[in-house]
Amino acid sequence: MSDHLLQVEGLVKHFPVRGGALNRIVSQVQAVNGVSFTVRRGEVLGLVGESGSGKTTVGRLVLRLEDTTAGKVVFDGTNVLDLSKRDLRRFRKRMQIIFQDPYASLNPREKVRTVIGHALALHGIGTPASRPDRTVELIEQVGLSAAHLDRFPHEFSGGQRQRIGIARALAVNPDFLVADEPVSALDVSIQAQVINLLSDLKEELDLTMLFIAHDLAVVEHICDRVAVMYLGKIMEIAPSNALYRTPNHPYTEALLSAVPVPEPGRQRKRTVLSGDIPSPIDPPSGCVFRSRCPRAEAICAEEVPHLKKVGPDHFSACHLTT
Ligand code: SF4
Repeated sequence: MSDHLLQVEGLVKHFPVRGGALNRIVSQVQAVNGVSFTVRRGEVLGLVGESGSGKTTVGRLVLRLEDTTAGKVVFDGTNVLDLSKRDLRRFRKRMQIIFQDPYASLNPREKVRTVIGHALALHGIGTPASRPDRTVELIEQVGLSAAHLDRFPHEFSGGQRQRIGIARALAVNPDFLVADEPVSALDVSIQAQVINLLSDLKEELDLTMLFIAHDLAVVEHICDRVAVMYLGKIMEIAPSNALYRTPNHPYTEALLSAVPVPEPGRQRKRTVLSGDIPSPIDPPSGCVFRSRCPRAEAICAEEVPHLKKVGPDHFSACHLTT
């Protein structure tokens, strides 16, 4: 059995843009452009980048919620992209998603008991007689109580709704979770509680996770490794410790410079990135980060930098890397 539960190879997703009187394809949004990474069993890999970096699209492609333009998604030895609809259903049980906005994915007319009960019935988990007990078990596992089962989604706070979203994802006993910005919509005070819950559940249930976030501060304590994405590509991937202490890529440095250092008296040099992330319809030539990179040189416009090893398990895509 491979150490890796998930292997993503050369993942590409281009969305056609149509225009003109004939509604022809006039260009392509290059949302994901050759992304490769692995997630080891029991590992949490963070996928971090600004909005428009392609990180959420990667999560959706991994779960086959979107069609892929090219590449492979190998889950436990099987290329998910080759599966028939029927076989995919079997895999879906093992791979679940937690959404950024659980309210949008919860039916406002269904009580929590029904939401979780449906997830169990849909995937044929347990029997009609055993499902009510399992429903109570699940709601308690996420820090709520049986009394909450007879309430509607609007009766909960944002943090509680996210807990319900997590309970629903766990209903099918998955071994892999994609957490798609699960705390971005929550107050800062609540974010830590939900991250701690996910961290505890990961240990308890031996979960493997792809944790998507736009902020490096959010993923620091839950992720074993972090991949930093920019304009559809991975710029740097490293064990958390190495990425936070000795970042290599100028983009990671810029993102990290905005993250507060917990040690009193210590500060990071602040790098303010100028401008916005360029359009994925027409990304810069060479290094896609060059239009905002404070260290760009002539070669950066001419050659695409590929991920190079810069330390143990640490890779960076920058021409200045030695
Ligand atoms: Fe900056 Fe050039 Fe490195 Fe890209 S390759 S990050 S533009 S120095």
